[in-house]
Amino acid sequence: MRAVRRSALPKGVLARMANRQAAVDREPGRVEAIWSGSRKTQPIRAVFRTLQGMMGGTEHCMYCVHSHGSDIEHFWPKSPYPERAFVWENLLLCCTECGRMKGSQFPLHNGRPLLVDPTVENPWHHLDFDPMTGNIVARFVEEAPSAKGVATATLLQLSRREALAIEYKKTWRRLCGLVEAGGARLVERLLEADDHGLLGWCFDGTGAGEAPFAAWRARDPEGWNACAERVRLL
Ligand SMILES: [Zn+2]
Repeated sequence: MRAVRRSALPKGVLARMANRQAAVDREPGRVEAIWSGSRKTQPIRAVFRTLQGMMGGTEHCMYCVHSHGSDIEHFWPKSPYPERAFVWENLLLCCTECGRMKGSQFPLHNGRPLLVDPTVENPWHHLDFDPMTGNIVARFVEEAPSAKGVATATLLQLSRREALAIEYKKTWRRLCGLVEAGGARLVERLLEADDHGLLGWCFDGTGAGEAPFAAWRARDPEGWNACAERVRLL
């Protein structure tokens, strides 16, 4: 996972989304039919293109940052929460596998989501990467696993997806190799090589303590900080 900056939707698209939301608000029981009937329309196509653009050239799923983001995902599922069906801030880009695993599950704690929304928070504050296995697990915060991290990793089975773990490990090794080699344009080369959003873990997660990132930080704190700032701006 990685933090994703949400783009603005054109005003005309937002207005047409609001019209459809008003139709759902009048007949919440028809939310599925109204959404299905809207999928091929211009405003929803614009939503899809904007979500793809938010993931840069990769168009990856915002949950696993690995598979192709083929669907518009309702973070708050649309059937139990029809009042958010056409709300831009509730829409993410998702792959078929993550969508299937999440289904209509949406755990809450005191009315707040337990699933990480990468467009409003840094996932690596709740999740941890295991460089040995390539798995993504809950991050320990003050000696206890983050409840949000546990729910997110469990729901999306982030520690049970072999193909995902293999690719995350490859990306981690690439990043390590670049840091070890050093040289010019290191930040740019790291960003180009980071297919899975792992730099967020390297700078803001527990990866900051892993060699060779920890050694880089000790050797060149200014360079390390400059790179961290660039990663956070993405
Ligand atoms: Zn996915």
